[in-house]
Amino acid sequence: MTSQLETRDRLTPGAASSALAEWHYSPSLEATDHVKIQPRYNLFIGGKFVEPHSKRWFETINPATEETLSEMAEADAEDVDRAVKEARRAYEKTWRKIAPSERAKYIYRIARLIQEKSRGLAVAETMNGGKPIKESRDVDIPLAAAHFFYYAGWADKLEYAFPNRTVSPVGVAGQIIPWNFPLLMAAWKLAPALAAGNTVVLKPAETTSITSLMLAEIIQEADLPPGVVNIITGAGATGAALVNHAGVDKIAFTGSTEVGKRIQRSLAGTHKKLTLELGGKAPNIVFEDAPIDQAVEGIINGIYFNQGHVCCAGSRLFLQESILEPVVRKLRERIGTLRVGNPLDKNTDVGAINSRAQLEKIQELVESGTEEGAEIFQSSCSVPDRGFWFRPTFFTGVAASSRIAQEEIFGPVLSVLTFRTPEEAIEKANNTPYGLSAGVWTEKGSRILKMAQKLRAGVIWANTYNKFDPASPFGGYKESGFGREGGLHGLSPYVVLT
Ligand code: ADP
Repeated sequence: MTSQLETRDRLTPGAASSALAEWHYSPSLEATDHVKIQPRYNLFIGGKFVEPHSKRWFETINPATEETLSEMAEADAEDVDRAVKEARRAYEKTWRKIAPSERAKYIYRIARLIQEKSRGLAVAETMNGGKPIKESRDVDIPLAAAHFFYYAGWADKLEYAFPNRTVSPVGVAGQIIPWNFPLLMAAWKLAPALAAGNTVVLKPAETTSITSLMLAEIIQEADLPPGVVNIITGAGATGAALVNHAGVDKIAFTGSTEVGKRIQRSLAGTHKKLTLELGGKAPNIVFEDAPIDQAVEGIINGIYFNQGHVCCAGSRLFLQESILEPVVRKLRERIGTLRVGNPLDKNTDVGAINSRAQLEKIQELVESGTEEGAEIFQSSCSVPDRGFWFRPTFFTGVAASSRIAQEEIFGPVLSVLTFRTPEEAIEKANNTPYGLSAGVWTEKGSRILKMAQKLRAGVIWANTYNKFDPASPFGGYKESGFGREGGLHGLSPYVVLT
């Protein structure tokens, strides 16, 4: 096939930007008929799907259409207790005792099954979460499989990971994950915990639980000993019951800073280990010597793809003053070409906002931006009538102290600020309560290294953005949390060293 590109109007010289906005791709929808989403999911406890003690289920929807996709069980405190007890039993009876090379085989099996079922998982992820199919197909699902492969490799090499130490598992881990990368976050949490010999109770986010339950089916198919992985669904109360259960030895949480702080308070003084991966307000810093077109693509990728639903999204753009005008002009043109709409369309760049509540949060913060005097630019693209949508947006003239420069928006909204010297860029970039990630764009290698040393962020990308690898640790400074996931560092929270 040659090209699906159609132009509605003829391109005429001098009308490039408006004509570009008129380019349309023919629809290229991913099929959904091969995906098996059950009408109702129960809790995955002790290797079986069991009805919740609460006898309550809640609906989960497709945020792009507002149609109901399935019903998820609501786990109450009794269900949490059942799951933790099964995890404890599996820990004592099997998982801590079997040869590490056997543990590795199970984890490899999960990785391979995710690969085999990747198409269905990607479609389910997109339908339940609203992210474009090209993101779930090319990023989320392959990276989830890669995490299991990577940590399977460590399972029988822990004595090399921690030389001259005796390595033991922590025990039963309670893991709570958010809605922005549902299967990938489950993989980040499960793979290192299992490799190190822990058993797990995992709670996915209430709006995006489907792929975690599909993973439960995979875990069953991989024949993992019952109780090694338990997956329970529900909202904040279920998460809190898991955090506060006395039988849990470790909590790993990814989500909002507000809930993270609450969890930290409730675990103070207990024996439980804790890792937190919380919010971010990442600076993306572009120097005047940077390759500008490449940087503009990086900026777009950093904030608009995935609807800005990424805790490390480059949501504060710092431009060296001399390039403010050309970069803003290019951004405006590029935003006009972003395709917003049906996430199942393979050409879609920006999908649906994950929930009505999230959309309202974005709207409220964007209103505060205009009220505080910043100048708004928004794509004029059309969006579907049903579902939750927000047009790609950026603000210029943003005051460093304003809410849109300080608070996490978690949507396709960029705040543009300026700087004159590297020192000023560092000072402004570090001026938030967060410190998860940062981007630096410059031709000079020495400047990249200098900036990287002074930026208070766990991950720093240079001349690129939002790149992930299972071997590379991820995590924050300050209110972005503590503890690292990924790489060798990602094993540490799941081991006791003597
Ligand atoms: P977001 O604002 O990104 O939705 P949350 O922090 O509210 O992030 O949610 C992240 C995860 O934490 C979800 O799985 C959610 O159900 C869970 N959660 C929410 N409140 C609590 C709580 N008080 N204790 C434990 N988990 C919680």
